[in-house]
Amino acid sequence: MTDTVATAPSRSIVTEIPGPNSRALLERKAAAVPQGIPHQLPVFIAEAHDAIITDVDGNRFIDLGCGIGVTTIGHTNDAVVAAVREQVGKLTHSLFGTTPYEPYVRVAEYLAKHTPGDFAKKTFFVNSGSEAVENGVKIARKFTGRRAVAVVEHGYHGRTNLTMTMNFKPAPYATGMGPLASDIFHAPGSYPLHDGLDGAEAAERTQYYLEKHVGVSDLACLVIEPIQGEGGFIVPADGYLPAMQEWCTANGVVMIADEVQSGISRTGATFASSLFGWEPDMVLSAKGIAGGMPLAGVTGRAEIMDSVHTGGIGGTFGGNPVSCAAAVAVFEQIEEHDLNAQAQRVERVLRPLLDELAERHEEIIEVRGRGAMLAIELVDPATGAPVPAAPISKACGEDGVLVLTAGTDYNVLRFLPSLAITDDQLREAVDVIDRAIASTKAA
Ligand SMILES: *Cc1c(COP(=O)(O)O)cnc(C)c1O
Repeated sequence: MTDTVATAPSRSIVTEIPGPNSRALLERKAAAVPQGIPHQLPVFIAEAHDAIITDVDGNRFIDLGCGIGVTTIGHTNDAVVAAVREQVGKLTHSLFGTTPYEPYVRVAEYLAKHTPGDFAKKTFFVNSGSEAVENGVKIARKFTGRRAVAVVEHGYHGRTNLTMTMNFKPAPYATGMGPLASDIFHAPGSYPLHDGLDGAEAAERTQYYLEKHVGVSDLACLVIEPIQGEGGFIVPADGYLPAMQEWCTANGVVMIADEVQSGISRTGATFASSLFGWEPDMVLSAKGIAGGMPLAGVTGRAEIMDSVHTGGIGGTFGGNPVSCAAAVAVFEQIEEHDLNAQAQRVERVLRPLLDELAERHEEIIEVRGRGAMLAIELVDPATGAPVPAAPISKACGEDGVLVLTAGTDYNVLRFLPSLAITDDQLREAVDVIDRAIASTKAA
């Protein structure tokens, strides 16, 4: 990938943003699509390759979002495209629970091999991250015979009824759309910048809450993102996750890693859990797993997964053959092209650039994350108030860089570049972010 540095295209803005073609499409969108479906950058995308997306007016953007960490391997990755083309002419659907096919089993084998922990594991597939979380909870309840589900503060788990209840923030995901699911408990987690606790102290605080407020004998599972995504790329204190796993194991609680955003070579390890020495009982993957095709996996200890009776799990589209073929192409590249090393390269280049940015802009109070999952948190140094990240993201978009926001207080800029992004593209993108921060301050 590094030999493409010299020739990779950079950004190019040739119209105002949005351009005339996007403006016409935005009008059609407004008439045909509900306003509840937002857009962050008001341009329509015509095509994309690696780290560059091109809109319908010919503007080129450096993509630091990857459709929220989905095209980790790069937009229209050649091997993924070839695998999809080949599979789509052979079999597009049979329903695995009716008549099985090989690519499904192959991806399940890859997940057993690449998820942390040297024990027997089994996997089945669904269509989205939310659905993976739903199924993880169902299985944990069945396995334990218990009802309660615990999550930690600042977590995000999806938009179905159960998962929108599991989110830390009701707004905008659940506001006005209740009643919500019962038996969901939000425990304090680990957010070192704000709680000042080390891993053991934070784990003790979580355990106290679960023991006193939930009651261990009713607790089926604890679901945690090893690095929290929507919460703002919050990295837990060292030792927190293994301490919680140890406590869960001792108390018969299934501990589930929601790796929907952090998984699949995003952080410099195939699964972020392993960066913290955590071997979860169950690992949920989605977003990046199939290089842009929809697929989600529920992987867990064999005895937990086999606790569900025949027909108790499944679904029509889950593990679609084309999506599975794409996922095979992703795992082949994880193994053959060492994608984790590419994520580490992104961090090696991007983190020092963000550290420099933090020296120039005092509202950047932390640079954090791992691999190609890095973020900056913004707080007004005079007032201590969160600085909204959206105007900075907007200014970046108008200057040819797509940057996503995050954080419970909407004051985090998060960077999820593709692993195919070049060092030069990263430098160019950070220059744009630098100017955007300065321009929003001046305004
Ligand atoms: C995106 C996300 C989900 C939900 O996935 P969908 O595919 O949008 O349903 C769940 N958990 C985490 C950590 C996520 O980032």
